[in-house]
Amino acid sequence: MTRTIEDLIPDYLRGLPVYVPGKPIEEVERELKIHAVKLASNENPLGPSPMAIAAAHAVLANSNRYPDGGTSLLRGKIAERCGVAPEEIFIGLGSSEIIDLAARVLLRPGLQGLTSHGTYAPFSVAIRASGAELVLVPQRNFAFDLQAMAKAITPKTGVIYLANPNNPTGSTFGRAEFDEFLAAVPDGVLVVLDEAYIHYAVSMGLRDSVETYRERKNLLILRTFSKVHGLAGLRIGSAIGRPELLLAMNKLKTPFNTSGVAQAAALAALDDGNHVTRCIKTNATERKRLSEGLAKLGLKPVASEANFVFIVVGPDAKALCDDLLHMGVIVRPLGWMGFPEAMRISIGTAEENDKCLSAMARVMMKRAGDGQLAAR
Ligand code: PLP
Repeated sequence: MTRTIEDLIPDYLRGLPVYVPGKPIEEVERELKIHAVKLASNENPLGPSPMAIAAAHAVLANSNRYPDGGTSLLRGKIAERCGVAPEEIFIGLGSSEIIDLAARVLLRPGLQGLTSHGTYAPFSVAIRASGAELVLVPQRNFAFDLQAMAKAITPKTGVIYLANPNNPTGSTFGRAEFDEFLAAVPDGVLVVLDEAYIHYAVSMGLRDSVETYRERKNLLILRTFSKVHGLAGLRIGSAIGRPELLLAMNKLKTPFNTSGVAQAAALAALDDGNHVTRCIKTNATERKRLSEGLAKLGLKPVASEANFVFIVVGPDAKALCDDLLHMGVIVRPLGWMGFPEAMRISIGTAEENDKCLSAMARVMMKRAGDGQLAAR
């Protein structure tokens, strides 16, 4: 019997879902011949800092050269800001790469990776792709149930993934709750704390988790330039973690994972505090306005500390998203993230949010007229 290439793909990879990205705006506009707004991928509607754009332009002409594979300038700057050593900083091809590397380094068949239902899907994918067993703990009130997660730890647990704020629900857990959780986690289990949206969470300080990190050997904090810094398209993120772990991740990453353009833009973005503040403020104002507008339509967005809102709309959530799409508003149905009755709307500019609210009002009115309104 001859073996095929397909036979070589392990069973634990065959069953993995393919990541479904938000629909690109150009595709929707081309297919539907309409002007669209994209509120589906939690991007920064204000764009990158002008300083980041200028820095990227300035190094573009050097693209014949390989970038600094050791990302020394960027690691140095982040290390200084966080009060840790450069050896404690890892730069990844987006934080997505680091989510994957943590599992690749530490998990294998026979071990378990732990996360929650209703969180960022790549956590589960990373665990399963390592051949380890995926253990999912149910949420409570659309938030991580850290007590239940602590109880789910077994001697086989290798890595635990948490997102704070959580995507897609926008919920957070506080420092006291997190400390209590960490006290129940053995030193030999890595806790990956994904803080992609931390800047938007006014209830939390950027340094809180870094202080916790200093006291714990088993914490890996993930941050990204894709959200508040508006550099999602350049693919660059960072982690704070123990040098031993980062060394192992360095062995597995591709030699030049982040481009010189991305590194230069990220360095400049860190210097533009005004842009960051403007993005945080605009997001907070618009998040409140969008949430209130949705509430006026009879919807109940879950309180969010991120740059998106999560709403349970009923069994026809996917159809509702499709209706909005046909009106030029791209939002995210969440069946693939474990919430078939919910949708997630990213916070856009004032005009984009107005367009979303008016499309939602029209869709709901039409559905009410058709007698098929399932909003709750
Ligand atoms: N982590 C969370 C919780 C996210 O929601 C996202 C993107 O939406 C990411 C990580 C990925 O970020 P990056 O663009 O840095 O890969």
